[in-house]
Amino acid sequence: MRPEILYPLFADISSIKGIGDRAYKLVSNLIGGSKVVNLLWHLPSGRIDRSYRPILAEAVPGRICTITAKVVQHIPPKNNKQPYRVVVEDGSGELTLIFFKIYADSIRKNLPLGATRIISGKLESFNGALQMSHPDYIVSLDNAEKLPLSETVYPLTAGISNKMINKYMQQALSRVPNLPNWLDENFCRQQKWDDFKTSLIRAHHPQYQTDLEPFAKERCRLAYDELLANQLALAIVRQKVKKQAGRSLRGNQMLRKKLLEILPFKLTKAQQNVLKEIYDDQASPYRMLRLLQGDVGSGKTIVALLSMLNAVECGAQATIMAPTEILAKQHLETMAPLCEELHLRAELLTGKTKGKARQKILTELEEGKINILIGTHALFQEDVKFKDLAYVVVDEQHRFGVHQRLSLSEKGNKADILVMTATPIPRTLVLTAYGDMEYSKIDQVPEGRKPVDTRTIPLEKIAEVVQALKRKLQSGARAYWVCPLVEESEKSDLAAAEERFASLEKIFGKDVGLVHGKMKEKEKDAVMEKFKKGEIKLLVATTVIEVGVNVPEATVMVIEHAERFGLAQLHQLRGRIKRGYEASTCLLLYNYPLSETARERLNIMRESEDGFLIAEKDLELRGGGEILGTRQSGFTEFKLADMNFHKNLLHIANQDAKMILELDPNLETPRGKALRILLYLFEKDDSVKTYRS
Ligand code: ADP
Ligand code: MG
Repeated sequence: MRPEILYPLFADISSIKGIGDRAYKLVSNLIGGSKVVNLLWHLPSGRIDRSYRPILAEAVPGRICTITAKVVQHIPPKNNKQPYRVVVEDGSGELTLIFFKIYADSIRKNLPLGATRIISGKLESFNGALQMSHPDYIVSLDNAEKLPLSETVYPLTAGISNKMINKYMQQALSRVPNLPNWLDENFCRQQKWDDFKTSLIRAHHPQYQTDLEPFAKERCRLAYDELLANQLALAIVRQKVKKQAGRSLRGNQMLRKKLLEILPFKLTKAQQNVLKEIYDDQASPYRMLRLLQGDVGSGKTIVALLSMLNAVECGAQATIMAPTEILAKQHLETMAPLCEELHLRAELLTGKTKGKARQKILTELEEGKINILIGTHALFQEDVKFKDLAYVVVDEQHRFGVHQRLSLSEKGNKADILVMTATPIPRTLVLTAYGDMEYSKIDQVPEGRKPVDTRTIPLEKIAEVVQALKRKLQSGARAYWVCPLVEESEKSDLAAAEERFASLEKIFGKDVGLVHGKMKEKEKDAVMEKFKKGEIKLLVATTVIEVGVNVPEATVMVIEHAERFGLAQLHQLRGRIKRGYEASTCLLLYNYPLSETARERLNIMRESEDGFLIAEKDLELRGGGEILGTRQSGFTEFKLADMNFHKNLLHIANQDAKMILELDPNLETPRGKALRILLYLFEKDDSVKTYRS
């Protein structure tokens, strides 16, 4: 249960004065949540200095000015295209205030003829005359104190002004309680950090430009708090897993040997190395919790299957969980024929498995007749019971939380866990997403793969691209056409994809299909199935296909507005056409003008296919903000920490978390208790809960 002291911070933002129904949606979208605490994590992006108060004769256009002047003339518009204009003067010169689409009544009320007003906003010069459009502030002399001479600027969204956010923020900040200190006092002193509350308030009241930078001490303190919560939560989960005794899985090799005989290829060196690490883990009496990283096409599936066979050789069961129905089915298609040759039973259990079929699987699972169960989230359901589950593989693409992974393993008997990911993750990010998990890398793809011919083409040549595509399809190829994420609204993503689909349909007719994230799973599957069978030759898609889809016949990919995608994402996408041994082509269509980093990204894509290198470059190129670009992929997202600047803090937090749990494994000391509050503050409720179970 959340400690009472944090209640005010977890109140709904509707409790803040000024946030009514309309603002509620806008604000919660903007801050990524609907709690006061989400508002507090929305840090300023700038500050406006209104202390420049020239007389009009000396005022410099282009600057933010605060002017004291008398209203001398109102010029109402003659038609509704014209603005309403108000002329003011201060004895030294004249200034025209410009208002578009503003009620004349309110202008007359705020700026009555003859009155003196303090006006603040950006001064412009138009045909030699001074003007100001929509001043930020107009106050009377009596209300001078209502005009802030230094104003904090926040990232905004349409419909929410900076003034509004500032008003909300002041209320939110006034609710921040004094919290016990969860940091090591010496460390805190060394860093010259203030306490949490002071740091937060200061971070929201920047005095200088440097206060806005990631290295500002207030921001570092907050980033550290967030990172420590992240690392501590992961360490707690790990501690819990490690505390439980595991079992030693050491099969007789029979099934594995046989599988290697029937496979049409030899394992790569990298696959063999990784398997050795996994087998060693399985054989040890401790519980295994290992991350397996391997680039797309590096051959993780067979590694997973072999390690599952080790469990099966021991007379136990194994399961593999995929993030989507399509992927689970794909695993079944790969594994079932192989299992059949080994006289093993592999079954599929997804949300779609219903009625009698489902019942049959559940019964046979409990009786131990099924050796390998392949599934989706549906595996979590309570009535899914194994006879003796010893090994769990989570093929995850970052969609499952740490706790979900664990809860699946709890269905087992001291089950070992292997988490597989196709996104090459730089070290730093492994740490933020998994903590100190052991990890193995498949750093090599099977030999004989032809490199993808990657080209960058300006968007204006799209007609030629379509012609080339036409020829490819006529000669029997299959192709993806990936439509971009349009900034912000998902609705327009979809609209863009639908538009593209319509225009391509005019050219390719029935050969084109469309998949997007808003489709029902069933519809998606149906389209994918058609594409697999070749009934559809060109698949127009939003980024839904990013996740592990395997259609070996697809050898062409067009990515529209490639400049809008992150590197890691482009790499994942391109991986879709690297499955077979056929030469394939990836066309990156880009729009001018390219930013420096976008150009760099496209160059890297053209030059490299090495996922780990690409991931490192990605992290390097990213100018702050989102980590690895992929909100969709569910990477740990930090609100306050920025991996481009706070990497060193992450490593300190990692060590700190380890020390904390060594000295105070149950978080019972005064600092431990304060740390529990920290965990709740950053919504790591689940990890605190593990203490009670
Ligand atoms: P991913 O790591 O992306 O999941 P897969 O396991 O789907 O990759 O493997 C991609 C393809 O490579 C599959 O068709 C698989 O049969 C094949 N493959 C796996 N290992 C090897 C190998 N050692 N040599 C040749 N082909 C392999
Ligand atoms: Mg795979």
